Amino acid sequence: MTPALQTLGLTHHFGAFLATDNVNISLPPGARHALIGPNGAGKTTLVNLLTGVLRPGAGRILMGGEEVTGMAQDRRVRRGLSRTFQINQLFPELTPLQSVSLAVARRMELDGGWWRPLGHGGAVAKEAAEILGRFGLSDAMGRRVGDLPYGRQRLLEVALAIAARPRVLLLDEPAAGVPEAEREDILAAIRALPREVAVLLIEHDMDLVFRFAESITVLVSGAVLMEGTPAEVAADPRVRAVYLGE
Ligand code: ADP
Repeated sequence: MTPALQTLGLTHHFGAFLATDNVNISLPPGARHALIGPNGAGKTTLVNLLTGVLRPGAGRILMGGEEVTGMAQDRRVRRGLSRTFQINQLFPELTPLQSVSLAVARRMELDGGWWRPLGHGGAVAKEAAEILGRFGLSDAMGRRVGDLPYGRQRLLEVALAIAARPRVLLLDEPAAGVPEAEREDILAAIRALPREVAVLLIEHDMDLVFRFAESITVLVSGAVLMEGTPAEVAADPRVRAVYLGE
């Protein structure tokens, strides 16, 4: 099956420093894949290459078999790439309903022309409310985003990314800074994501990674150390050496 997202020999230098070293990853449609690696392994650089923030020095990026390597960020979004950010990108003064409505309206605009959302205000709000319900945010719908607990703000970020109906979703440390008590909600929400979307999770919390992912790529010094199932990765002595100094 054509991968939803694939990199072929992806390589990137910062000056003389090799930050991404011939990386091949492949996510089939509906994948639940995680990217892990110690600090400085090149995870953020890889995300920036995938989203188009950076242009690779060499190699290719394909979405659904189509070349997106040199494509601008917004065109990749239109091709079905969506992401969340490590750093909170929300508008604190809006409500969750307003925030998701904007994302839904934006998608409709991209799908069908600028005039559609104007005539479909009711449909936009209805879909936004339905999405918020899926993320357990119905009761928070009309509150000020800035007043929500941090874990719920992170959930809202995932809801916003999903409102674009992506084929590929990059989750960039969705649990970063989230207190332990709220982490289960994040895990439940990302586990419940629709199977139409292939998910690439970048996350430090290994518990979350191992409970979410069906396959894992381990990145070290910019290169793929190994790829496998969570069980294979957990049992690999090279991975244990990197993480535990064994
Ligand atoms: P990770 O996200 O896995 O912690 P990064 O992708 O942030 O890793 O960084 C990989 C390596 O590339 C690090 O050694 C980092 O110092 C270096 N690096 C990242 N961004 C830049 C940059 N803009 N200029 C120079 N070096 C960079």
